[in-house]
Amino acid sequence: MPPTRETPLTELPGVGPQRAKKLEKLGLRTLGDVLNHLPQRYEDRRECCALKDAPQDRACCVSAMVAETPRVSYIRRGLSLVKVKAVDGTATVHITFFNQDYIREVMGRGESFIFFGIVERQGNLLSMTNPVFEREGAARTTGLIMPVYPLTAGISNNLLAGLTRRAVDDCLDGLPEALPAQVRKEHKLCQTQFARKNIHYPADFEQLAVARRRLVFEELFVLTCGLAQLKKRRTAGEGRVMEGTPEEFSALLPFVPTGAQRRAMEDIAADLRSGKAMNRLVQGDVGSGKTAVAAFGAWAAAKNGVQCALMAPTELLAEQHARTMGALLSPAGVRVALLTGGVKGKEKKTLLSALAAGEIDLVVGTHALFSQGVEYRELGLVIADEQHRFGVAQRSALVEKGGAVPPHVMVMSATPIPRTLALIIYGDLDVSVMDEMPPGRTPVATFLVGEDKRQRMYGFVRKQVREGRQVYIVCPSVEENAGRWEDGPGMDLKAVTAYAGELQEKVFPDLRVGFVHGKLKSKEKEAVMASFAGGALDVLVSTTVIEVGVDVPNASLMVVENAERFGLSQLHQLRGRVGRGKHQSFCVLVTASRSGTARERLRALCATNDGFQIAEEDLRLRGPGDFFGKRQHGLPQLKVADFAADMELLKEARSAAEELIAADPELKKPAHRLLKKKVRELFEENGALFS
Ligand code: ADP
Ligand code: MG
Repeated sequence: MPPTRETPLTELPGVGPQRAKKLEKLGLRTLGDVLNHLPQRYEDRRECCALKDAPQDRACCVSAMVAETPRVSYIRRGLSLVKVKAVDGTATVHITFFNQDYIREVMGRGESFIFFGIVERQGNLLSMTNPVFEREGAARTTGLIMPVYPLTAGISNNLLAGLTRRAVDDCLDGLPEALPAQVRKEHKLCQTQFARKNIHYPADFEQLAVARRRLVFEELFVLTCGLAQLKKRRTAGEGRVMEGTPEEFSALLPFVPTGAQRRAMEDIAADLRSGKAMNRLVQGDVGSGKTAVAAFGAWAAAKNGVQCALMAPTELLAEQHARTMGALLSPAGVRVALLTGGVKGKEKKTLLSALAAGEIDLVVGTHALFSQGVEYRELGLVIADEQHRFGVAQRSALVEKGGAVPPHVMVMSATPIPRTLALIIYGDLDVSVMDEMPPGRTPVATFLVGEDKRQRMYGFVRKQVREGRQVYIVCPSVEENAGRWEDGPGMDLKAVTAYAGELQEKVFPDLRVGFVHGKLKSKEKEAVMASFAGGALDVLVSTTVIEVGVDVPNASLMVVENAERFGLSQLHQLRGRVGRGKHQSFCVLVTASRSGTARERLRALCATNDGFQIAEEDLRLRGPGDFFGKRQHGLPQLKVADFAADMELLKEARSAAEELIAADPELKKPAHRLLKKKVRELFEENGALFS
């Protein structure tokens, strides 16, 4: 019986239990899995040359006959050589294989093979070292465009290629088509069989492009169908009607809200009144005052007798929010509590039962908020701060805590995301943009300096402190030599702990220097942050733990060491930690890098304070992978598509998906069954609740 897509790999020749285990590490269990294991890149092995014409600058195939029985010699322990002499009628080539004794058994005198590799030439002597080879006529690893797969220890590319060949040869018949025929026709996409075959073994690069285009489209189509469904369901979802006006709330604020804050609050108030579940993104640059807008939501929830959960991405930020919210809202009778991983034992038990009994109106915390065992009496509003760190999955998990009526959802992001990407990433949300800063802010003046200006920079730190200000100094890593960066040796990475000690002892013996980093216990972190916020420290040396949300208005200078290590958007976030008070603020980017592009990047930051402009620039220079960091956008991980390179296709897929979901919101039509399954799988793989 020929194998099918369901055939376990263990039933194939050459796959024993050992290998099967290793293949499982790559997520490969059946031939069907193998079909989905896509090449990372390709090696063009199509060129065939006569030995005498073989190029010296690139590998090619030569067809040659073994002229003598191969000879093995042992150079020393663990190193053997097999020497093979082969001829093709135009010349003789001397081939050397290292540590592949078995070749002596394989290559008999008079037999013909194809060798693929670089033919080297010294005078008249031609040689090859460790070429790829196979018997003439096999055409499995030579004479073709060879797929190169992601591998794992103990699994060779040849083994995988053998398996994918098997899958392509035997398992493509009747492969079901996930894309509706209409969509395929309209967007000129090839059939799934063709795409699968040619993504592994393309006849040429044109066909590869055709295959890839189809697979990218399909992936983005599945993704955007899922997002469109989420959005549709949410906008259809019922929501609690809540009353409360921004005017009434604003009396609690120690300042007059900006126009942008007022507009965002009006948007929210309208959502809360609408009878439908709110799903709103409040996007505003660092310092635009999103906290007050969140407080409005929390206040409205409490006023209407339901609970609010505010999620922050770090404990530090959760603690800070809890303080701010407590100060702002407790005068209005709102009961605020903090729930992080650090809250344990009896304290936690008391808190959880108070939460379940409805004795807490606003709970601020981290992921702990949606862990098991956390119950709400009536959760009416979920707020996620710095949303790019939360996945769609986590958002949904918290919404699940809402009970019969889904809670309203509000997410806040300070990461200005290029418009094109925002459309996709926040495709399931309504958006309020806060495009106005609180009054009295002077933009942070930003400078780029080299190592030669270090002493002057220290002098500047001292000057700020003398004037009563405080200073952040940010370093890229925690421990000395924690990871060598690709910049090569000699990079002097300022490590927080060591650097703080050095600064205190040698540079600023008369100043109060503290440090904080992610590896400290949260109690310790909290203590350091509190003493900085309270003015008991002049200089705070830190990693990027202070990147998001930390608010100390008296801090007026931020120094970033090894600034070239950071992304622009990240630096922009960091810079947002200063310029929060009435004092002129500064950001000094220190770099020893001489690379032109690195400096160009950093100069872009000196030139503008506009987060959107910086984000576009960052995306242009680094591409979206780096732009978001590892999976920060919280979307399902894509296998084929690339958010930047495939932008046009993304737009096409998205509009096709929206059209389809408008016509068949739940993908109930029989023709959409497979699509529906794929949507569910994509989101489930990533933990989203998608029923
Ligand atoms: P972000 O949008 O980065 O979360 P925050 O909410 O932390 O910004 O606000 C930044 C700072 O600006 C805080 O110190 C806050 O008290 C202050 N602030 C916010 N709104 C106003 C306003 N309308 N007028 C004056 N100061 C404000
Ligand atoms: Mg904030």
